[in-house]
Amino acid sequence: MTEYRRVKGTRDLLPPETAVWAAVEATARRVFGLYGYQEVRTPLLEHTELFVRTVGESTDIVGKEMYTFPDRKGRSLTLRPENTAPVARAFLEGGLQSGPLPVKLFYVGPQFRYERPQKGRYRQFHQIGAELLGDASPWSDAELLLMLDRFLRELGFTELEVLLNTVGDAASRRAYSEALRGYLQPHAEALGADSKRRLDTNPLRILDSKDPKERELLAGAPALADHLTDAARAHFATVCEALDDFGVKYKVSDRLVRGLDYYTDTVFEIVSRDLGAQDALVGGGRYDELVADLGGPRVPGIGFAIGEDRLIEVLPASFRQRAAAAPSVLVVPIGTVPAALALKVGEELRGAGLAVEVEAAGRALRKALERAGRLGARWVVLLGEDEVGREAVTVKDLKDGEQREVPRGALAAWLATRTESA
Ligand code: AMP
Repeated sequence: MTEYRRVKGTRDLLPPETAVWAAVEATARRVFGLYGYQEVRTPLLEHTELFVRTVGESTDIVGKEMYTFPDRKGRSLTLRPENTAPVARAFLEGGLQSGPLPVKLFYVGPQFRYERPQKGRYRQFHQIGAELLGDASPWSDAELLLMLDRFLRELGFTELEVLLNTVGDAASRRAYSEALRGYLQPHAEALGADSKRRLDTNPLRILDSKDPKERELLAGAPALADHLTDAARAHFATVCEALDDFGVKYKVSDRLVRGLDYYTDTVFEIVSRDLGAQDALVGGGRYDELVADLGGPRVPGIGFAIGEDRLIEVLPASFRQRAAAAPSVLVVPIGTVPAALALKVGEELRGAGLAVEVEAAGRALRKALERAGRLGARWVVLLGEDEVGREAVTVKDLKDGEQREVPRGALAAWLATRTESA
């Protein structure tokens, strides 16, 4: 054991698992591209104030989970705990609001939250997210959810549950916050410290509470659905109808309010029964006030973030198998045939686009075949002294065990056609 260990709550992603991550990300890029999304890359570091202002002071993220530190000049910086606020900042700072709208952006990368590590919960975790800025129509909500649904289906998921709700527009939220505060105030003594504080700052947050006593109290609370403005109600109805039309299954969950302050109207989560306690795979929603809160014009937006660590944890085996990249060919020199010739044949085959391992260690044939099996190679190219003299090689197909002689000049084309159809 070395004395150097990774920081608690972080992970090393090692091969062959990294190939699975890359395949998931390639699928996201391809599917999101079909909907016109382009990649955005923002810094891991932001000014702390960005998150305080947008995610909200009363949230767990800002209250206790951020990696915040002063830089050498004493400015407060934070490792991003989420990426919607940074993307909205970059959108404004890049002047994208003056170009054609909507702007559709996706990102892939690490986020940082100082949470208690457990299965499915890390201090550095990874998200794949998408943000659509500049369109307030409920059809944008529906299209974004269709994109998410298509992505998850392409990965082979079938059993995920989509939870959908609306937190209403700003006017609905104000009305509901008052009603909830009015209901909870007489019971303030029964609330925990966090919830008591939130009673003043943001009573909606209390709905997230996991405390059994508070949950009991909340069962009798006024419903958000009864405080929606007509506009908010109509927006949500259209989103639901659109999803019905396209056969996307969802469950309306009126307790779902999401942990961040910037959400308006549609909010959603996707959960997986295979995940255990940390069962949320995707979180998202509309944020029509966020860009204005950052000092910009009122640009409505909607987006989601997929927890990539958790997604890969429950990834269907079918996709995992397709993602496992194995070299297709192992080249083995036999007897006195020099490793240099094996390397040369390897280079010829790589030039034809084949993934090749060259056996340079001079192993016995049996050991070399064992290695081919371990590597998951499909073909072994044997360079025996006799064949080399005839400018030929022996190719063994590990799938059916068949062996045949192929002229060396024809080898690359011979393998390439058969590997494509394999
Ligand atoms: P949120 O916006 O906080 O709901 O995050 C979106 C998604 O990111 C969640 O549904 C999780 O899948 C994932 N996520 C959030 N926090 C963590 C964490 N600490 N470790 C792993 N995944 C996380």
